[in-house]
Amino acid sequence: MTMTIRAACIMGWPVRQSRSPLIHRYWLKQHGLMGDYRREAVRPEDFPDFLARLAQRGYAGGNVTIPHKEVALRLSEPDERALAVGAANTLWLENGKLKSTNTDVEGFIGALDEAAPGWDDGLQKAVVIGAGGAARAVVFGLIERGVPRIHVVNRTLPRAEALRERFGPGIVPTSFDDLPGALEGAGLVANATSLGMEGYPDLEIDLSPMRADAVAADAIYLPLETSLLRAARARRMRTSDGLGMLLHQAGRGFELWFGVRPEVTSELRARIEAELLREQN
Ligand code: NAP
Repeated sequence: MTMTIRAACIMGWPVRQSRSPLIHRYWLKQHGLMGDYRREAVRPEDFPDFLARLAQRGYAGGNVTIPHKEVALRLSEPDERALAVGAANTLWLENGKLKSTNTDVEGFIGALDEAAPGWDDGLQKAVVIGAGGAARAVVFGLIERGVPRIHVVNRTLPRAEALRERFGPGIVPTSFDDLPGALEGAGLVANATSLGMEGYPDLEIDLSPMRADAVAADAIYLPLETSLLRAARARRMRTSDGLGMLLHQAGRGFELWFGVRPEVTSELRARIEAELLREQN
């Protein structure tokens, strides 16, 4: 008798920076499942063909990272969430059809719920910095949780204006010059740019105009403590980091490929955190 091992992968270019294999292999082992999760470095020009042969390659589906998220949306049957965000990060084969969703939304919101329970109680105003794929997922999650006014701050203002077109009048496109005014009385600030990531300039920000009980969130997990989170902790604000987002976005894909909904435990987090810190030092 032959046994088929189910497998999934992370597709990106480059892809070696991805920590997703650590997470999914941990869960496979924890649940005693025969399966594998691999890195696949796929050049943009090869991506359509790679997707067309996903089943032939032995994959039940996979995750998609930079620069493939928008193309993955076009080449699959997206659910409402992926369509609303305009990017897909999770793919799976269902009755021979390639389906997709965007789990960065639940990643961001799940991490916030864990790190700062009640963060959305009476939240009237939030500030999201960035207007790319991650920012669209963050904004969509905030709208789903009922935040009525969201300032989208971006270097290239027309990209922030495009979010207002996409998500409606609750979005206020804002330039970096107007960031201090946007932070005035806000209860949440989220960084969804590359600013603060290794190799990029820091996000310089004065959080003093924010509410005393405000929360700060960052999508970046390399480094684990970004300049935004450092500034927030100095003011005793609650924080949610990019590793929390990465862990919480992963569960849905695992469930779709391997049939079990895994948990984000403190042990899993500690393992990945140790790995990241080892690489940083
Ligand atoms: P993206 O679509 O390329 O968007 C990049 C964003 O960063 C844009 O708003 C861009 O502004 C801004 N930016 C880049 N360099 C800048 C600079 N020097 N000065 C000012 N703004 C700058 O990328 P993305 O997919 O949204 O990813 C954004 C970040 O989120 C990345 O750091 C990524 O690693 C992280 N992320 C984390 C997770 C997680 O699970 N933790 C998931 C997804 C993404 P312009 O529009 O002006 O270019």
